[in-house]
Amino acid sequence: MPDRQLYRLRSASDRELIREVDPGATYVDRETGEEFQVVGRVLPLAPSPSQLPYSVANLRLCGCSLEQLVQKDLNDCPHCARRLPAVER
Ligand SMILES: [Zn+2]
Repeated sequence: MPDRQLYRLRSASDRELIREVDPGATYVDRETGEEFQVVGRVLPLAPSPSQLPYSVANLRLCGCSLEQLVQKDLNDCPHCARRLPAVER
């Protein structure tokens, strides 16, 4: 299970970046030279079986009667433990 937490970083000119961060490290925008500030953690919170950020583009319905949204990189529904069908391409 991946235990890496992803963070949302933002610069003074509102450029955003999503990545893991090391405590105490400084992240600088290569193009503008501005420093990124951590503005939030990205769902799912670590540890999570999924590595995909919890966003519309990465979600699908699990297909059971609970009708829960689950990340597309999961093989089993985290809500009902049912095996998920293969993702349609
Ligand atoms: Zn389910």
